[in-house]
Order: sequence, then structure tokens, then C-alpha cells
Amino acid sequence: MLETSNPAQSIPRGRGIFCNRTLNFRSLRAIGYDMDYTLVDYQVEHFERLVYGFAKERFLKEGWPVEDLVFDPGMVARGLVIDTQLGNLVKANRFGFVKRSMHGTGVLDFNRQRELYAHTPVELAEPRWAFLNTLFSLSEGCLYSQMVDLLDAGKLPHVKGYAELFASVRAAVDAQHLEGKLKAEIVAEPERFVVLDSEAALALLDQRASGKKLLLITNSEWSYTTRMMSYAYDRFLPPGMTWRQLFDLVIVGARKPDFFTERAPFFEVVTEDGLLRPVSGTLKPGGAYMGGCAAQVEHDLGISGDAILYVGDHMFGDVHASKRGPLWRTALVLRELECEVAALESFRDAETFLAARMEEKEALEARLAHARLALLRLKGRYGPVPSEDAATLENEVQELRAKLVAMDSEIAPVAQAANELTNGRWGLLTRAGNDKSHLARQVERYADVYTSRVSNFLYATPFVYLRSPRGSLPHDPSTPGGPPLTPSLATEEMG
Ligand code: IMP
Ligand code: MG
Repeated sequence: MLETSNPAQSIPRGRGIFCNRTLNFRSLRAIGYDMDYTLVDYQVEHFERLVYGFAKERFLKEGWPVEDLVFDPGMVARGLVIDTQLGNLVKANRFGFVKRSMHGTGVLDFNRQRELYAHTPVELAEPRWAFLNTLFSLSEGCLYSQMVDLLDAGKLPHVKGYAELFASVRAAVDAQHLEGKLKAEIVAEPERFVVLDSEAALALLDQRASGKKLLLITNSEWSYTTRMMSYAYDRFLPPGMTWRQLFDLVIVGARKPDFFTERAPFFEVVTEDGLLRPVSGTLKPGGAYMGGCAAQVEHDLGISGDAILYVGDHMFGDVHASKRGPLWRTALVLRELECEVAALESFRDAETFLAARMEEKEALEARLAHARLALLRLKGRYGPVPSEDAATLENEVQELRAKLVAMDSEIAPVAQAANELTNGRWGLLTRAGNDKSHLARQVERYADVYTSRVSNFLYATPFVYLRSPRGSLPHDPSTPGGPPLTPSLATEEMG
């Protein structure tokens, strides 16, 4: 553990708390936590392989020819979008424009991608698109892509199309989370699936000691929640204390996102084995409940939404929904951020090189444009007469074009490496080409702050004042002259 009393000690940048909208922790009166992939972190690959295996088993029992399929954890990533109409997996930029895509398990080439998506941006409000919101989505994305290959090969004659196939995969994966087998296996061997974080308990103890009410609000059911929380927290708490004493309210089976936007009754969990009783009055401090809604939490705690922070990993269910309903402050847990930041840091020198080259390239392009325009005017006999004759200008045009071609061959491999950081197929989670990814745009819109894990709050302290950076615009004097991270290499631009 790092020394928390020493403010000079630096933690890795990837474990920082990044701020989109200013958030003063001192003005927070309550902090609500999601459980899965927020308070309790999982070995993603093990967890998703298990879900994938059970879903595959279900298809096998129904006679689908899926026996040869094998889970490939690198095939998909959070933030990608399934195009259920065409059987594709796509990565979009902040405007929804598709920048990379796969049909089934095969990468689509640039021209095919342009044919399909140049006029069809991703619009998540439409049912055609399914956003991979959490790390729980990886098994589904992988299984769907592989089964699209089977459908194309004519091996699923009873399936009418890509959308119907998606509905079947969705149902198969959904069922694993609801049926008992998956959770029973995890509960039986938590050490295989849970990543313990010895610092998270202390972060919560600090927040409690500073006077904040702590809430646990999870979609998981009582029996699973109590086992997971006990496994992940009790061992790191002072003697005699259990995870239950960390929280002023525990809410299981919360049915987020509806929890934030709809009204629903609470049921009290009255016994350790989960017996439920309807709640008639207000919620009791220290109580455990099932169901309910955010509006009653606010009312019974007597705390307004802007003094409650909700921390979760689900882009829609935790972070977007809590902004649509009660306007709670939001923190997104993005586990992949640590790798993402480390990759960006290790690529810094290459990016500096790229930036310098792009600046040179832009200067050459400007000279080429002016030379071409001078030629045009000379031939058209209009405008100011250029100081050089046509032959000199034509020479210059040829030379500049040759230089640009040479420069592109220097830039291309570095630009490609930038595009392949952290995942050769999809690149960084938060970038799409030279722009922010669709995921990054949602983080920016809906998460007031974002961080890689809950224990990062330990280093920030419960008294931190997080300030958003000044928003930048392309016309700001401080915005660099614009060498993009992954510049366009399209040759027609030079034609
Ligand atoms: P939370 O993140 O603590 O709110 O809990 C998420 C719960 O949702 C876990 O119990 C997951 O098993 C469950 N879950 C994740 N994906 C799905 C799904 O696709 N269908 C149903 N439940 C899911
Ligand atoms: Mg979660």
C-alpha cells in the first residue's frame, strides 16, 4: 500500500480520479456504490469464459452446432457496438461514425466499411445498436461474432437473420446471470474469480469517518451480494467489523436503470437467508432492502441528489441513468484505464515524433496547395500573376508530392502502432482514430468523474476538491496547431 499520509508521494497516473465536472467531496453527504465490477472486481477472463461456457452449453442442448467455438477474450472490448442488423461489431467515434468494424470474426476493410457506414452513424437510441456497456458484455460480443460466422456458413438454417441471432445470444447470456449455476460456481470458488483490493475497505472507512453516509445499491440478489461482499471486504476491516457495518443502506435487486427513473416499492431483507417483507414506512438506518427507487432513498435520507455521488461501472445502468432520473453526481469505474494510461505514457515519444512529422506534412501540403492554385490561375489567365512560370510551378508540385509520399511512409507505421495500443484489433478504449471514441464521449457526458477503481478514492481523501480542466476548443490559442494522433494517409487528399 502507498503511504496515504504523505501527499508528496505520487501514485501512478492511471490510478488518478479524472474530472469532467467539478466535484467537491466535502459537499457530498452520501456515496452510493454499485457492487459488481465496482466494489467487487472480477478476473474478467475467468468470469466471462464461464458465462460463455454456460451459454454455449445451452445452445448445444438445443442442438445448435456450436461445439467448436472457443472464447476469445481479446476479440471484443467494452465500448464497442453490435450492429444487430448486419451482424457486425463496430467501434465508433464521438460523432457515432464507424472507424473500425468486424463482420462476424473477420475485420471489414476500409472500402466495405465506408459502403456500409458512411451515411449511417451509430445512434444508440435505435434498437439496431447494442452497446457493450460493461465487462459483463465481453462473452456476449464474442459469442455473437462467432455465431454470425456460423449463420453466414449456412449452419444455422432455422435462424432468420442477424437480429434474430442477436436476440438468441442475448437471451442465452442473460439467462446465465439469472439462473443459479453461474453464481453458485463463483460463490463456491471466489478466489478464482474475485480480484481482492486491500485498499478499498480503508477508502470506505475514511469516507464513513468523514461523516458521509454509504449506500450499496446493486442489481445482484441478496445471497450473492452478502457472500461476495463478505469475501472481498470482511478480511480488510477492523476486528469484529463486517461489510454490513460499512453501509447505512444496502439495496439489492435494485433493477437499475429503472431504479433511478421509476417508482417501485422496497422490501426489507429480514433474515440472513434473504426472507423479504414489504416496507410500509421509511427506510431504517443500517437496513438491507430489495428493489425500491432512488426517489425514496433521497426522501428518506433527507439528502438532495446533488449531494449524493453514485459510483458504478455500467455506462448506462449506473452512470447515464442516474443523470436522467434524480440527477445524482456520478463516478464511473473504468478498470481498463490503468492499462490505457500506461500505454499512452509509453507511447509518448512516438507521439511527439508523429506530431513533429505532421506539422511538417501540413506545411508541405500548404505549399502544394498554393503551387497548384498558382498554376490554375496561370492557365486560366486570371488573378495575380505568379512570380514563377508554369514549368517551375509544375516541378515544385511534383517535388512536393514526392516528399509527401515519402513522409507518409515514415508516418504510417507509427500511426498504425498508435491505433493498436492495448488491443491490436480495436486500439485504445477512449480513442477512435484521431478522435475520442463513442465510449469516451459518453464518459464525458454522463460521468462527473471517472477512475480505474474504488480504492483510488483512498489517495484522493474524502476532502478532495476535484476541478474540471478548462474545456478546450479548436480555435483556442493554447490548442496545438493540430497534429492528429493518427493522421489521415488517404492519398487522394494529395491528388
Ligand atoms: P451490479 O453491477 O452490482 O449492479 O450487479 C450487476 C448484476 O447484474 C450482477 O449480478 C450480474 O450477474 C448481473 N448481470 C450482468 N449482465 C447481465 C445480463 O446480461 N442479464 C442479467 N443480469 C446481468
Ligand atoms: Mg456493476
